[in-house]
Amino acid sequence: MSLAHADSSQTAGLDVEMLTMMLSAVADFVTNALPPERQLQLDHEDVCPEDIVRAMCSDQLGVQLLFIPEQYGGMGGGAFDVYRVCEQMARHDLGLATSVLATFLGSDPIFVGATDEQKTRWLTQIAEQGFVYAYGATEPEAGSDLGALKTTATRVEEDGKVVGYKITGRKQWISNGGISDRTTILALAPDGPTWFVVDPTTAGFVRNKPEDKHGIRLSNTAALFLDDVYVPVEDLIGGVEGQGLVQAQQVFGYTRLMVAAFGLGGGWSALDRAIEYSTTRIQGGAPLSEKQGYTHKLIVPHVLRLEASRAAIEETATRIDRGEGENGALNTEGAIAKYMATEAGNLAADAAIQAHGGYGYTREYMVEKIKRDVRITTIYEGTSEIMEMTIARDRWQQHLKSRGEYYREQARELDALHARRPEVGASTAALAANALAVLLEACRVGRLTRNQHVLLRLGELIAWGESAISLVRRSSAAVDGIPAPKADGRFTPDTQAAISRAFAREAVQHVAEQGLRWVRGAAEPGTDLGSLEQDMHLDAIRAAQAGLLADYDAVADAIYKRTS
Ligand SMILES: Cc1cc2nc3c(=O)[nH]c(=O)nc-3n(C[C@H](O)[C@H](O)[C@H](O)COP(=O)(O)OP(=O)(O)OC[C@H]3O[C@@H](n4cnc5c(N)ncnc54)[C@H](O)[C@@H]3O)c2cc1C
Repeated sequence: MSLAHADSSQTAGLDVEMLTMMLSAVADFVTNALPPERQLQLDHEDVCPEDIVRAMCSDQLGVQLLFIPEQYGGMGGGAFDVYRVCEQMARHDLGLATSVLATFLGSDPIFVGATDEQKTRWLTQIAEQGFVYAYGATEPEAGSDLGALKTTATRVEEDGKVVGYKITGRKQWISNGGISDRTTILALAPDGPTWFVVDPTTAGFVRNKPEDKHGIRLSNTAALFLDDVYVPVEDLIGGVEGQGLVQAQQVFGYTRLMVAAFGLGGGWSALDRAIEYSTTRIQGGAPLSEKQGYTHKLIVPHVLRLEASRAAIEETATRIDRGEGENGALNTEGAIAKYMATEAGNLAADAAIQAHGGYGYTREYMVEKIKRDVRITTIYEGTSEIMEMTIARDRWQQHLKSRGEYYREQARELDALHARRPEVGASTAALAANALAVLLEACRVGRLTRNQHVLLRLGELIAWGESAISLVRRSSAAVDGIPAPKADGRFTPDTQAAISRAFAREAVQHVAEQGLRWVRGAAEPGTDLGSLEQDMHLDAIRAAQAGLLADYDAVADAIYKRTS
């Protein structure tokens, strides 16, 4: 991707005022409907507050209107709006957010695949009547590998014409499965996997009891059993069999952004509690917030990772809203955003428990619940390992197609950016881009990606490198005074620059050290790896760490609103 994408114009969705209204409406609604004591009680009792889920999708809040186009009675929000609202919901309760997400997900095959008549019928129903959807893809033996699905859709014919289908099979781990008004079901029709919109009250459709889960216990998750469930042909999405996997693929860039926003919201919610706690907890004669060994281990690194993820999310959302995401074109970027944000969210929530000491380990302090809740985000909508594979495979192709220039070109652009705007860490991000180019080439020459572990480690390192690049672009736009109009504005441009510099150092160090480790670890013993370290500019990468502690100090000062 070129630096031209730092251009912050956003063309789709709500205007800034409308989005701001929506964000505070969501916050007010959930704060009133679900105060902390009720959340903890529902979590303890493992109960989905169906009344609140339905109220959120009714006139009382109308959150579902966000993702329905205006022509079907919705507000026509774009990807950026959806990210901001998803983060907001996740800050309050990830279980509730998951219930809302399930309607988003359930209606996604409709967006990409349905006929105009079907869209009018189904999307208007969601907008006007607040229908709650579930998304039925996963099966007991088909999770990451959806192609292994076994649920079948058998044609029912009358006078030689297909009038409907009988669906038989089992779906596993379906969010809203026990409460939905409609469920989109992926089933194997004679011409291939196909999506159907199914009314769960149809004969033969049985919803199992809710799962007893580790986290997001306010969200209903259930297995579904379908035994000859009749679906009229009008309810086959798009009217043509065999489009199901393509339709599922087409929306990943977008849906994974939503889960990325969940990781971000969950992580920040936990971290903000730790930040607040550390200002009042006195140990060793001073608040914990004044202990550098505390803040620089338990707070600052997580701020960097979360904000790097935010940059990846915002950049991808902006591009989707510009229309660049057609036919799954931004699936890799969506995967990077999801991978980074959900892994960062998990680590941040874990650190928040540590930051609360013994209190963090009890239910009362909420971080324990957030940690359990946010855990799901690295699993659903594609596990982290599947994200690593998706990212690595795509960028591997780009490396080959461009004859090794894919990341070198980005390194050159970042160096040019550094010349104009030296304070955002662009030269360090350039080193990371160059290191990725060197690593991919070493893997090509040594045929190392035949080891799946090496391929997946590349996926991880690419995600780190590309997020650092996105963060550099984001902070550079902020320093230039042209941030994306709907960007989160918590940090000043100066702090964003410090965050960006510090994360670029962490990313380049991670890419270089881990990359060298696995290239050496996978190469045949005695292989001459030549000038790998030199090509990677390892000395420059180490030298770029100068100033890291000062930037950590600056980020801590900004978080605690201290003047340094
Ligand atoms: C609470 C919850 C809610 C959910 N909601 C929904 C929903 O609404 N709709 C829906 O359709 N699904 C839903 N899911 C399912 C979810 O998307 C799947 O659980 C997920 O995709 C993983 O599939 P799986 O559980 O079968 O694990 P598997 O695919 O069996 O994976 C097990 C482990 O193996 C790894 N792995 C898998 N394949 C490979 C490979 N090729 N190489 C290396 N490692 C691999 C995975 O990363 C994972 O660590 C939900 C799940 C949960 C737990």
